[in-house]
Amino acid sequence: MSDVLERFLRYVQYDTQSNEQSRTYPSTEKQLVLLRDLAAELRALGLADASIDEHGYVMATVPATAGHDHVPAIGFIAHVDTSPEMSGAGVKPIVHRNYDGGALALPDDPNAVLRAGEIPELADHVGHDIVTASGTTLLGADDKAGVAEIMTAAAYLVAHPEIPHGPVRIAFTPDEEIGRGTKYFDVAAFGAVCAYTLDGGPRGEIEFESFSADAMTVTFHGFNTHPGYAKGRMVNAIKIAGAFIAALPADSLSPETTGGYEGFVHPYVVTAAVDKTSVKLIVRDFITAALQEKESLLTDLAERTAARFPGARVEIAIEEQYRNMREILDGHPHIVERAREAIRRAGLEPHSKPIRGGTDGSRLSFMGLPTPNLFAGEHSFHSRLEWVAVQDMEKAVEVIVQLAEVWAEASSQGRPE
Ligand SMILES: [Zn+2]
Repeated sequence: MSDVLERFLRYVQYDTQSNEQSRTYPSTEKQLVLLRDLAAELRALGLADASIDEHGYVMATVPATAGHDHVPAIGFIAHVDTSPEMSGAGVKPIVHRNYDGGALALPDDPNAVLRAGEIPELADHVGHDIVTASGTTLLGADDKAGVAEIMTAAAYLVAHPEIPHGPVRIAFTPDEEIGRGTKYFDVAAFGAVCAYTLDGGPRGEIEFESFSADAMTVTFHGFNTHPGYAKGRMVNAIKIAGAFIAALPADSLSPETTGGYEGFVHPYVVTAAVDKTSVKLIVRDFITAALQEKESLLTDLAERTAARFPGARVEIAIEEQYRNMREILDGHPHIVERAREAIRRAGLEPHSKPIRGGTDGSRLSFMGLPTPNLFAGEHSFHSRLEWVAVQDMEKAVEVIVQLAEVWAEASSQGRPE
């Protein structure tokens, strides 16, 4: 399991940044470089069916060990792309051995310092080996830690045929960071009863509830005319939109005033002209029905605002983005329970918190592949201060191996699948 670090250091040096503006799939050609190499590496491990499809999805199987063909196939998934928010080119990973609890200064930028006072999780890693980038790029532990962990676990299972397990399916995917990671994911071809993404934070964590999410576009139509001769005629859509935004609740229902299980509405882009101004909002809640309440509130507010400007009119479009994976996972509680058992067997205490966002697993769960998220050891992701502890990556490898065993045991005891 110790070669998880070697793999990780290798993968982070591939620039695999995705790009929201792109219309191709995957969004950037460079992701395919790593994806192709991963498919070749899986084949070199002995996974004969390792393949990459025309969209860039890499899939492979660690076959069941002798006598365990009847065990249902489970999957492990990680994404190769890194966030468009921060450069991922020329990543120079640094391994800080035996962390002493102090500050970690990154060499390429004097302002890039990981301080224990600002990053409380560092205190749990004294004595561990911490990997960072050099100060000018992200590290890419999100989600190359997950990729390295799954690859290492696959190698371990291949090398240990005495470990009882059913078929273990593996997938490496592009474009998660821009919300397109599951667009062409072939659930039927993957052929697993469930999957686990390895794309989470601190060791021991299992995440099984995410936001439910909609996007809403509120468009105000006004009337434009020469401003010198506009008296009694012009209706300025910019001012209507401004009034609408100003009328949003100030002390609640916003990203900056909510946490835990609270939802919000969030205007994030305004495209403004006198004739027509549109406000894009995201709407989030853990309860899908509560999304509709928030949308009615916004619709009401938009209509009442427009009514104050004679001649104006408002148009509203709502688009479903993703749903809380828990709505699916609650119907199959053993999927999360077995992950907790595997985490315990790896000597860790399982813990969970709601994801205030969505994962590929949120979408996959509704595409017929229930998929909670397991820890990969990622911290401060999408930032120059991103870091991961080697010991957490090793634990994640152990959890994957244990989880394959837990499923085999449950199956031989005839427990639900
Ligand atoms: Zn990720």
